[in-house]
Amino acid sequence: MSSKLARFATVGGVGSCCVGVGWLMAFASGQPLAGWLCAAALGMGALYLDQSLKAASLLDWLRNDADGTAPRVVGIWADIAHQVDRALRRRERHTFAEQQRLTEFLTAVEASPIGVLMLDANQQITWCSRVAADHLGLDPKRDLGQPVTNLVRAPAFVEHMASAPSSEPVSFPGFNGSRLSALVQSYGEGLKLVLTQDITEHERAELMRRSFVANVSHEIRTPLTVLAGFVETMSQLPLSETERKRVLTLMTAQAQRMQTLVADLLTLAQLEGSPRPAADRWLRVSDLMQRAKADAVSLSAGRHALRFAGGEDAQIAGDETELHSALGNLVVNAVRYTASGGEVEVRWTWMADGWGVFQVRDTGIGIEREHLPRLTERFYRVDGSRSRETGGTGLGLSIVKHVLQRHGGEIDVQSEPGKGSCFRLLLPPSRVRRVSPSTSGEAQPVIDR
Ligand code: ADP
Repeated sequence: MSSKLARFATVGGVGSCCVGVGWLMAFASGQPLAGWLCAAALGMGALYLDQSLKAASLLDWLRNDADGTAPRVVGIWADIAHQVDRALRRRERHTFAEQQRLTEFLTAVEASPIGVLMLDANQQITWCSRVAADHLGLDPKRDLGQPVTNLVRAPAFVEHMASAPSSEPVSFPGFNGSRLSALVQSYGEGLKLVLTQDITEHERAELMRRSFVANVSHEIRTPLTVLAGFVETMSQLPLSETERKRVLTLMTAQAQRMQTLVADLLTLAQLEGSPRPAADRWLRVSDLMQRAKADAVSLSAGRHALRFAGGEDAQIAGDETELHSALGNLVVNAVRYTASGGEVEVRWTWMADGWGVFQVRDTGIGIEREHLPRLTERFYRVDGSRSRETGGTGLGLSIVKHVLQRHGGEIDVQSEPGKGSCFRLLLPPSRVRRVSPSTSGEAQPVIDR
């Protein structure tokens, strides 16, 4: 009971008792009017006491945050208690709905790949999403209240925070060797919102794009410079017929080099920009072998022993031009990197688990172990001058890798310097099937995978 009301109740009760006693004395002394007045006063005192007690219990309930049900009171107090109770339940429902909304909002923020960090006017962390914590190496609970620049100490970030706000994001090394970008926005009274993003992949792609453009420019500039030199020579010097022919031959070679480069670049662009080849267009492996053989025979011009075997019982589901380009690139490389008198063998084999394999083996110069992981990178060459001399662009194996990936396959290389190389194109069971070798055209599938 509240002390004030308790005091009222006590005063009321004691007052009533006094008046009652007064009434008894007045009645006993023969003054009835005074007696009635005293009785009325006694009744009012009792009423006052009753109301005070109800108000006190109501106030007690309110003081305890209106926990549980309202006290059982009657009359106007019951009505007041009911209205207060309703208002409180309404507010409770509203608060619950707001909390739900806040939880949903925070869950959405947490689901974003962008990290969110909220700072107070002193740059102390007031909230941190899981992603921001991962980006910056923070603990979303433990680090609350800490100045962010005490925890994220990358100089670029610290400097940016000191000069923020800025409409430009800052990039800096993040936790775990990643590369991060952070955008700082001001809001409210000195509060700050920091949005973090992992840009490792983006920066890597940008670097690759820049080096690709630089490589292409370099590859084109060299033959172009040579061509321009020859044109100048021919236009300024009187050349004999023999000299003219020699210069024209050299010019043709340079022009061809540029043509091959542009063709390879277009092939790569097409491979990257088109959907995967359909898995229901079946090609005969023997046809692909025939085309590759024609390429090898023409390039080798009788300088190598060429062997082609297998594949009569196999079909591949995929794009004929792409698969010919992949196999052709390997066969041409095998011839180019094998000295006269060497051997080149192309074979189709089946693996026990149903994969089909094109194997191109040569007895050529071979490749040092440290180069193997990088062979399929664009413009990667083990020996640049040898590659260019033999008409290479440095894009061949990159094309092969793309083609294989688009057919769900893999490329595998084994090589030993001085002994030769073995390149294998592995195609998954979903893309290959056995057929019964037919002498009259259409081969019939015997196993569908
Ligand atoms: P390139 O047009 O230079 O041949 P590729 O992408 O086809 O480009 O090959 C990349 C590099 O791999 C080549 O420059 C060469 O050094 C090496 N290479 C490829 N195939 C062979 C092979 N059969 N024997 C030895 N080296 C090879």
